Amino acid sequence: MSNVYDAIVIGGGHNGLISAGFFAKAGARTVVLEARNKTGGAADTSSPWPEHPDFKVTTYSYVMSLMPPTIIRELQLDRHGYEVTPFGPYYQAYPDGRAIKLYADDAKKNYESISQFSKKDAETMPKWDAWLSGVADVLGPLLLQVPPRLGSMRVRDLLEQLRVAWKTRGLGIRGVGDVTKLFTMSVSDLLNEWFESDPVKGMLTVNGVIGTWAGPDSPGTAYVMLHHSIGDVGDGHLGSWGYQRGGMGAVSDACRRAAESFGAEIRTDARVGKILVRDGRTVGVALENGEELRAPVVVTTVHPKIAFLKLIDETDLPADFVRDIRNWRTRSGVVKINFAISELPDFIADPGKNLQDHHTGSVELCFSADFAEKAFQDAHFLRKASERPFVDGVIPTTLDPTLMPEGVHNFSMFTQWVPDDWVDEPHRDELEQYADRIVDLYTELAPNFKSSVIERQIIGPYDMEQELGLIGGNIFHGELSVDQLFHMRPAPGYADYRTPIHGLYHGSSATHAGGGVCGIPGWQAFRQAKRDRSVASTK
Ligand SMILES: Cc1cc2nc3c(=O)[nH]c(=O)nc-3n(C[C@H](O)[C@H](O)[C@H](O)COP(=O)(O)OP(=O)(O)OC[C@H]3O[C@@H](n4cnc5c(N)ncnc54)[C@H](O)[C@@H]3O)c2cc1C
Repeated sequence: MSNVYDAIVIGGGHNGLISAGFFAKAGARTVVLEARNKTGGAADTSSPWPEHPDFKVTTYSYVMSLMPPTIIRELQLDRHGYEVTPFGPYYQAYPDGRAIKLYADDAKKNYESISQFSKKDAETMPKWDAWLSGVADVLGPLLLQVPPRLGSMRVRDLLEQLRVAWKTRGLGIRGVGDVTKLFTMSVSDLLNEWFESDPVKGMLTVNGVIGTWAGPDSPGTAYVMLHHSIGDVGDGHLGSWGYQRGGMGAVSDACRRAAESFGAEIRTDARVGKILVRDGRTVGVALENGEELRAPVVVTTVHPKIAFLKLIDETDLPADFVRDIRNWRTRSGVVKINFAISELPDFIADPGKNLQDHHTGSVELCFSADFAEKAFQDAHFLRKASERPFVDGVIPTTLDPTLMPEGVHNFSMFTQWVPDDWVDEPHRDELEQYADRIVDLYTELAPNFKSSVIERQIIGPYDMEQELGLIGGNIFHGELSVDQLFHMRPAPGYADYRTPIHGLYHGSSATHAGGGVCGIPGWQAFRQAKRDRSVASTK
């Protein structure tokens, strides 16, 4: 029967496509149901300007790093267009004509750059790098670990808890102290223990606040920085941060093509309205248009507030679980702005519109940790868009010529913060003013920037929720705060990619190892279904 499958995947973001690829490869008759008219979710490339159909931007997410080699290899993503080029240095220019550049792999250049601001910090940097990567090397492999059911006294669960504890044995007493600090401290306090100069601290702050509804003074932000510093998830080294050729939509396209090559069916304009449950077990889904599709296994990769509070009757779920999902925090205040520019920024600190290495990495707007904190305070306490927003900017066209016609560049800006309740209204005029302020701030550093802007696209929290189902505008389907990590992601007892409904698995970014474009949640949902012997093969 054409509407009967072995596995149904809800959501055609990269996690859904990866999950479907593994099911289909295992021989399961699989279908992906995506609400929009295209797949990819937050890993997307688009042409936002009707007057310039040949201008393409990496719409939402913009850089790759955490995809494990096993996923790439097993799904043969390289064969389907997955191609990531490592990007250049972190770059921050200052209005006084100085600039700092930090390279992933050039300690000598880092020393020269940092010593302009502080000799002591220049000497400290290699020690900091070694310390951070030492902790990341021990914690990184936990990203591939299915979180154990902490607190459970079942023998199987106790053994699992011991296994996880054993994996962290490399830490030692000192290392456990370091991890405790990283999980509980603010990134500002942590950086103050190591460094003295504002530019260095500002630069390192960036990774601590990306996508968070928290400024660098908030406890827990040190972990966010660590999350972005992981280079190995125990599966071979991850690539360095880099640009996917063709923008992030090309990552999703590679995942889609891989799934299709194994026989998965992908349906767009297919919004799921209900997950069908009989006697505590899923039997399939109903689309909003009333069509029903049947399968013994359903994987949800949509935001948990959609999956568990909208698509399932509350009465089919344990009350504790419903309460946990209701309390799931999913704020963010992020605004993505994509610019088409006619020439590269000509920085006072590093003159020239010709392509130079500082154009090829992160082109930041974060003068100090206080700068970022003030930007957050504006939105959080004063309930207005930041006067001087924080920006993680990249110009992917410097290394990927496929997005724009020759001579035109895509300056992609991930910016923070606007008030979290801007998710309820578009706030178009205020967003335009917010973008104007960002243009002015960059123009102070590179005077040609303002006049180089051909087009701009502003995507606020309202758009992210309405377009993609990113509830609250949170880019990770839920905040990466310490109380929402590992065995708590998304709820205690249900962090193992299973759900209270038999046959229903959870592979969205709101599970452990998400968010980010890493595919781990979608893959793990498949693996759990396989462990439960739920993966039938009827193809
Ligand atoms: C602005 C922004 C910048 C980011 N930058 C980065 C970055 O640089 N690097 C990085 O690694 N990560 C980044 N992220 C995070 C990353 O993009 C996400 O964590 C990841 O793409 C989420 O993937 P997913 O498949 O879990 O979910 P999504 O990509 O959210 O996909 C879920 C899909 O489900 C669909 N859907 C929703 N409801 C239904 C329904 N009822 N029925 C059917 N389908 C439905 C949606 O349309 C969507 O396509 C960024 C995110 C954003 C928004």
